[in-house]
Amino acid sequence: MPAVIIDGGAIARKIRARAAQSALALAARGERPCLAVILVGNDPASLSYVGAKEKALAQAGMLSVDARLPEGSSEASVLAAIERFNGDDKVHGILVQLPLPAGLSEGRVIAAISPEKDVDGFCPVSVGNATFGRPSFLPCTPSGVMEILREIGAVVSGAHAVVVGRSCIVGRPMAMMLGARGADATVTMCHSGTRDLARHTLQADILVAAAGRPGLITADMIKPGAVVIDVGVNRVADPSRESGYRLVGDVDFEGALERASHITPVPGGVGPMTIAMLLENVAKAARERAEKKEGKQ
Ligand code: NAD
Repeated sequence: MPAVIIDGGAIARKIRARAAQSALALAARGERPCLAVILVGNDPASLSYVGAKEKALAQAGMLSVDARLPEGSSEASVLAAIERFNGDDKVHGILVQLPLPAGLSEGRVIAAISPEKDVDGFCPVSVGNATFGRPSFLPCTPSGVMEILREIGAVVSGAHAVVVGRSCIVGRPMAMMLGARGADATVTMCHSGTRDLARHTLQADILVAAAGRPGLITADMIKPGAVVIDVGVNRVADPSRESGYRLVGDVDFEGALERASHITPVPGGVGPMTIAMLLENVAKAARERAEKKEGKQ
């Protein structure tokens, strides 16, 4: 039987509706969720991601403010924008659109975000708290994958999960979240130094591909009945399209359909979940602020 194709768009819509309800309730408590977005330079992909995030915020009844800094801005000016938003009571979350132009240290810039506003979950304090199982913001893309697994009723506890990729944005937090107490998967993290990738992926009850390599995972690398989550987003040439390209994941989708029990398509799988989880995190930041204020009264 071919795999069930997971509709990430439908799951994301549910989460976005939930976030919109939270925004309404929070506005009534005087905390309308607000995200500050910092964008440096004119990278077309970054501009389009920022536009999509701001549109989603508005649709959920949340506010956004932005600081758009020109290409060539100094690190001090980026840090000054973060400091301004750190100290602004109307702002609940801060997001720095990555990648930053060459010459700016992503590590130093991200570390300057106040942990209670770190809705991307990338700053060292958030990563440390998450690693120790303490309350923290969790990165949006792997959170979206966990939400998909919950939504399809995948058995995570006791499963063998194999994550291909070890970036700080996807692979590493993904492996941490799958193996955390409560999720309880046994996790293998593969990367560019892994020998015989197929030997590992073939053991996966849950296979998460996040390498950014089109066609890396072929059907013969998938355990029959596995849940396959394809995080990869890759452009490949397609002369039949007006744009000249199409988007594919890291998994050979057609082949995998015959092996997996469930699979996310690209586009329309993990992609829509990332923004949905960002909205959830902004709502969470506003809720925490409201609770703190109300607790003080
Ligand atoms: P990255 O380049 O930072 O990391 C890729 C990882 O894959 C590295 O850790 C590397 O060790 C590993 N890798 C590369 N080649 C490999 C190979 N042959 N075998 C095993 N491991 C290999 O990328 P990233 O930021 O983690 O993103 C990964 C993919 O996910 C990209 O395609 C990106 O576009 C996509 N992505 C999608 C979303 C979304 O919302 N859907 C969000 C973030 C990233």
